[in-house]
Amino acid sequence: MSKMFNDIASQVKISAKYLKLSESLVKKLIKPQQILQAKLNIGAGKNFLAYRVQFNNARGPFKGGIRYHPQVNLGEVKALSLLMAIKCAVVDIPFGGGKGGVKVDPKKLSKKELEKLSRAWVRAFFKYLGPDKDVPAPDVYTNEQIMAWMLAEYEKIAGKKSPAFITGKPLNKGGSPGRDIATAQGAFYILEEALKKIKFKNKKPTVAVQGFGNAGYNISQILNKAGFKIIAAADSAGGVLDLKNSGMLPRDLMETKLKNGLARGCYCRRSVCDCENFQKADNKKLLETPCDILVLAALENQITLRNANNIKAKIVLEIANGAVTKEADKKLAKRKILVLPDILANAGGVTVSYFEWLQNKKKETWSKQKVLNQLKTKMTIAINQVWQVKESYKINLRTAAYILALGRIVEAMHAKKPLDKPVRPRAHGREVGAYRQDTTNK
Ligand code: NAD
Repeated sequence: MSKMFNDIASQVKISAKYLKLSESLVKKLIKPQQILQAKLNIGAGKNFLAYRVQFNNARGPFKGGIRYHPQVNLGEVKALSLLMAIKCAVVDIPFGGGKGGVKVDPKKLSKKELEKLSRAWVRAFFKYLGPDKDVPAPDVYTNEQIMAWMLAEYEKIAGKKSPAFITGKPLNKGGSPGRDIATAQGAFYILEEALKKIKFKNKKPTVAVQGFGNAGYNISQILNKAGFKIIAAADSAGGVLDLKNSGMLPRDLMETKLKNGLARGCYCRRSVCDCENFQKADNKKLLETPCDILVLAALENQITLRNANNIKAKIVLEIANGAVTKEADKKLAKRKILVLPDILANAGGVTVSYFEWLQNKKKETWSKQKVLNQLKTKMTIAINQVWQVKESYKINLRTAAYILALGRIVEAMHAKKPLDKPVRPRAHGREVGAYRQDTTNK
C-alpha cells in the first residue's frame, strides 16, 4: 500500500472518531467500491497497465482525473481516488471519488499512439463510465486533447452525444470557461479567506512557489495581481530566489523558464539586468525560504519529518495532493504554521469540473465571470464551514475538513440513494456551518 493511501486512511480514522463512526463503517469508507484494471494494447507489441478506482458513490457519480505517468501504480490511484471522494464532499458537490491512470511515459509515444491509448482506456472501462456513473477528467500528463479523444470514443460506442461523460474538454466540445485557472483561483479564494480569519496584517505578503506548471504559474499570476510578492519559484530543475524581496513578475519568470530554465539562477526584468539581487535555489532552499506563504504546487511528500522543522513560512498552501506528510503536518501544527490542506486548497479544479458537467447536462454555456463567481461562493462557504469545525473541536484544518466531508458522505450512505442535492453538513450528530446554500443548482 502506498504511503499516501496510508496517510489518508489514517486521517479518515482520526476524523471518524469525532463523528463516533463505528469501526465497520470506517472500514467501508476506506475500501474502494470497485477496482478496474486492464492491459491496453496499442499495436506494435506495446501494452500498458491501466486502472480506474471508484470510491463511494453515495453522493453522486464517481469523479476524478486520469493520470499518464511511468510511476502510476494501483496504490497511488487508490489514494487519489479516496481523496477525491473526500474533496468533493468538502466543497459539497454531488460526486463520489474516482481516479484513473495508465503506467506509461507519454513523452515516448507519438500523437497517434497517445490517441490510440486514450481511446483504448475508454473501451476497456466503458461499461463502468458515463455522465451518471463515473465522470473522468485530466490529471498529470493528460490534457483537453486527450479528453476530446476519450469523449469521441465514448460517444462512438454509446451511439449518441454525451458531453457530460468527461470534463476538462476543449471549449468547442463543451468545456467550461475558467477550467484552466480553476485550481489556482480556488486556492486563492481559500487563502484570501484564511488571511482574513487570522487577521493577517501584512498587506504585501511574500510568497515562495514550488512547482511552476499549471497551478503554480496561475496562482503566481493571481497573487501578483493581488499585491503579493513572489520572492522564490522553482520547478523540477531548480529555481530562483529574489534576495531583496522586491517581488518577481510571474510572466517574466515564465519567459525565463521557457528560455533558459528557472534554475539558471538569474532573473532579469526584461531590459534591466540586476543579477546580483537573485540567487540560484534548489528545492531544499526554496522550501526553507523565510516567507509569509509557501505554495506547494508540484508533487506529493514535499514536507516530511526531514524538513518540517526548517520550514519558515507562516502559511502553507498545499495545492499538490499529499504534499505534506501526516508526520510533518503534526510538526507544522506544533510550530503554529497554518496548513491550508489539499482537499480544500485544490478543490477549485473539481468544483469547476462540476460546473462543466452541470452546463453540459442543462445544455447551458456560462460566462467565465459566472463560473468564477460561483467558484468563489463554493470555496468561501467550504472554508467557513471547515473553519467552524476547526474552532469547535480545536483541531487543525485538515482534520476539520475530513470531519465535514465524512459527515456528509455517511449521511448520504444512510439515505441509501445517490443524491442530486448537497446534504446538510453534520459533525457529532449536529449541524455544522451556517452556510448551507447551493447557488449552482438554482
Ligand atoms: P504541472 O505538471 O502543470 O506542473 C507541475 C510542476 O511541478 C512543474 O513545473 C514541474 O516542473 C514541477 N515539479 C515536478 N517535480 C518537482 C520537484 N521535485 N520539485 C519542484 N518542482 C517540481 O501540474 P499541475 O497541474 O500544475 O499540478 C500541480 C500539482 O497540483 C499536482 O500535484 C496535481 O496533482 C495538483 N493538482 C492540480 C490540479 C489542476 O487542476 N491542475 C487540481 C488538483 C490538484
